[in-house]
Amino acid sequence: MDKTFKLNDIVVMKKNHACGENKWKIIRVGVDVKIRCLSCGREVMLDRLEFTRKLKKVLGEENEEKKY
Ligand SMILES: [Zn+2]
Repeated sequence: MDKTFKLNDIVVMKKNHACGENKWKIIRVGVDVKIRCLSCGREVMLDRLEFTRKLKKVLGEENEEKKY
């Protein structure tokens, strides 16, 4: 599975967020990766390794997600 990701990509995480959503938008990529929950807007910062481990799928840039 292709797990390459870039800024503004929508990603699906293995575990749902507390609000029930599992899709996130990548809002910062560096040593750490910052993602924002598409449902509740909460932002979470993970280091790259942890992010990659929790990442399930990269959906690509927000074509179908127009919420943000
Ligand atoms: Zn959420």
